[in-house]
Amino acid sequence: LEQQLIQSDKLSALGQLVAGVAHELNNPLTSISGYAQLLLRNRSLDEDTRVDLEQVRQQADRAGRIVRNLLMFAREHKPERSVVQINDVIQSALALQVYQLRVDNINVQLELDPSLPLTIADPHQLQQVLLNLITNARQAMADRGAGTLTIRTALCNTGAEPQIEISVADTGVGIPAQHLDKIFNPFFTTKPVGQGTGLGLSICYGIIQEHQGQIWAESREGVGTTIFIRLPLVEPRDETDEPLSPATPAESG
Ligand code: ADP
Repeated sequence: LEQQLIQSDKLSALGQLVAGVAHELNNPLTSISGYAQLLLRNRSLDEDTRVDLEQVRQQADRAGRIVRNLLMFAREHKPERSVVQINDVIQSALALQVYQLRVDNINVQLELDPSLPLTIADPHQLQQVLLNLITNARQAMADRGAGTLTIRTALCNTGAEPQIEISVADTGVGIPAQHLDKIFNPFFTTKPVGQGTGLGLSICYGIIQEHQGQIWAESREGVGTTIFIRLPLVEPRDETDEPLSPATPAESG
């Protein structure tokens, strides 16, 4: 089990790294190709320079294609939706962290609404979100030697449409007020090199956006942090429609 957990940590960290690097490389590569094309329009270029420049353009385009493929693979694929019970997604994300949470002396409290309606979402992507949030919470509490992780779900009826609300609360070090509006930015990290990529929350943000939801943080330094997520409630279609297969997040991969 321990091995499996280390593996899942590594996979999510690697996926985050790949997505972030690919994202950052895409813009400069597009610029290189664009400027090469601009220079190629110059009629007074001698033939050797033209050939060299054509190489620059072709290779930049090639690198751009590689990067965009990586991006698609690691991050920017559309959600594969199925009927999902969010409570189950939370349980399976938690199962991957149980061992680490115990090592870090963290007590887990679940307040999952047993009558939470089903929704239509990508269970793997949502599991990735929960995994990132639990990892952050754990790391924020590990520094303090102990803590409580509280995960809640509820049906929220305050807006125009009912939504599912998930909250992940920790009693960790908290986030300084001046950092609160930066934590969802790619590459923003306060963790030592090798521990943080600064991509976890930006990936969460991207996934929740794709699901037409909202994600935000509330925190007090020295007290703890709560991350809130709201997801639209999509009524599963009735049985006369094409059936959507219920899916639970895979145990591996
Ligand atoms: P990483 O974890 O690699 O640093 P994230 O995007 O997941 O990247 O988080 C960005 C930053 O937000 C963290 O470095 C940390 O400063 C802050 N942060 C995120 N979650 C928490 C939390 N639960 N408690 C305290 N700080 C947090």
